[in-house]
Amino acid sequence: MSDPDCIFCKVVRRELPSEIVFENDELIAFNDIGAQAPTHLLIIPKTHIATLNDLGAEHADLVGRMVLKARDLAAERGIDDDGYRLVANCNAHGGQTVYHIHLHLLGGRQLKALG
Ligand code: AMP
Ligand code: ZN
Repeated sequence: MSDPDCIFCKVVRRELPSEIVFENDELIAFNDIGAQAPTHLLIIPKTHIATLNDLGAEHADLVGRMVLKARDLAAERGIDDDGYRLVANCNAHGGQTVYHIHLHLLGGRQLKALG
């Protein structure tokens, strides 16, 4: 499913420019346009799911593969041993600004405490 007005669906459809670093039939990973760390990637499903609240049991394998892909991308960049952070924001209090679920992969520097 694709949402005509969703920014990340537009990235998937190549209607917006992006620096894609990985793609397969169900996932895409690209550089965050407002990078907060030397490595700041977004890992998203190609299908439009607005928030974490919209996930169902049928998405468990998809979400698992998003996490594993983030892990692999961290290893490819050589930041796995030093460490990195995976973040998924949900709705207003979580700081979500793009309503298409995504994992932030942040690394390459010492990250500060969450909050
Ligand atoms: P969140 O606040 O968790 O919803 O994260 C949304 C992220 O998407 C932010 O870190 C933005 O910098 C990033 N972002 C927004 N538009 C684009 C875009 N066109 N290409 C890449 N990253 C984007
Ligand atoms: Zn979308």
